[in-house]
Amino acid sequence: MAIRQRRLLIGWWGKLVFLVAVLVWVGLRAPCVALADEPARGAMVDVARLEATARRAGLRIVSGERLVLVTDRPARAGDGVDDLPRIFDEAFATWCDHYALDPKGVPSWRAFGCLMSDREAFRAAGLLPADGTIPDFANGFCDRNRFWLVDPANPAYRRHLLLHEGVHAFTLTLRSLAAPTWYTEGIAELLATHRLEAGRFEPTPIPRRADEVEQLGRIEAIRRLRVSGEIPGLADVFATPPSPRHDIPAYAASWAATALLSGHPSHAKRFRALESGPLDARLTPRLEASDGWDGDLAARDFDAFTDDVDHGYDFSRSAIEWTDGRPLTRRATSFVAADRGWQPSGWSMKEGEEAELVATGRAGVGRAGAIDLESTADGISLRWYRGRPVGRLLVAQWAVPAEGGRPRFVVIAEGETARFSAITTGALYLKLNAPPGDLAGFDGGLDVEITPVAAQAPRQRRGNER
Ligand SMILES: [Zn+2]
Repeated sequence: MAIRQRRLLIGWWGKLVFLVAVLVWVGLRAPCVALADEPARGAMVDVARLEATARRAGLRIVSGERLVLVTDRPARAGDGVDDLPRIFDEAFATWCDHYALDPKGVPSWRAFGCLMSDREAFRAAGLLPADGTIPDFANGFCDRNRFWLVDPANPAYRRHLLLHEGVHAFTLTLRSLAAPTWYTEGIAELLATHRLEAGRFEPTPIPRRADEVEQLGRIEAIRRLRVSGEIPGLADVFATPPSPRHDIPAYAASWAATALLSGHPSHAKRFRALESGPLDARLTPRLEASDGWDGDLAARDFDAFTDDVDHGYDFSRSAIEWTDGRPLTRRATSFVAADRGWQPSGWSMKEGEEAELVATGRAGVGRAGAIDLESTADGISLRWYRGRPVGRLLVAQWAVPAEGGRPRFVVIAEGETARFSAITTGALYLKLNAPPGDLAGFDGGLDVEITPVAAQAPRQRRGNER
């Protein structure tokens, strides 16, 4: 009996120790949980068989650990094609990071890519089905871990398209992706966007400079949509229909949505949790039902992002802190930091109310060669951005602009002194005019004094183009 009791005790302790060990093991592994096992055979195309077919057809083959790339391009020194498999391997490692997937768990995963100058060469080789199973695509198409892309002339854009299709191959097979178009295309754009640092792939979800992403044009496309008043809201992006064509505006907006959701401090954690779950057709409703999701806030953050986005945009400096502000009933002061985007003044006005502003001080607005540039609230004449001097104080309210389109910050006053009226009832936001990518080099700020003038009848809305 005593022995039996002791055995029971050992058994109980043993189970407890085992349970704790399992919990500790799971806990330690949690940040790097493999989300996919090696894909089932049927879910993958046989890369070795396709490679043999390409070899028999006399096509040029370059390969790395994760990619076999076949092309009919003639070998030309300096065209960068030989580097593509290595860059693909480097990108693959960052995609694994993004999805917290252990690459050692998928040792045999490989993609087969066709880089085509002439589609007929691939049809003739039996590497591009002509039986209607592959749609008539414009730039690229991916089927499981196999993809085709029409060779663009520009090396940077060639790398981008290759990696875009690579992300599709990765997510389709390793994450069983069957998600709405905005996510499928947005994440492919986001995870493919990069620059080369000493020849190596460096993920750059929001490009730093236009010359690092030649011909990509996503930011330019967003800007064009904004200026023309055709920019979609977040709900429109979520409803993007699938299309076999490479629709640049739709891709740019999808990229912007995934860039916002994965990069903005208010949304990034929730989006990461969402991406660790199934990437299926119910992804959007699952996001909208997730803990703490605020659809109005996300829509507003998206509008603010598409309004301001430019090369080098950094959410840590340009994410908006939305506040109501106290009613402006007497002289009030505020400080505007030079190294941030739109920031709340702490004060709000009613539509039609008038006020006067006086801004003082000098702020650092970067360098010109060895010279530190300083600016007053009027800005510097040396550099301009979006039609105004860099460093110029801007006062805005969040509103639908007079010309229509999505809401944005409508500038209602600017410079060292101004008399202005509120175009809506709401908070006043301040910033110094600057490309968002330059803010890291700015410092200091300006003192802003705002004094209300007796309230007058509401005027017709007006907006200034920024
Ligand atoms: Zn795509």
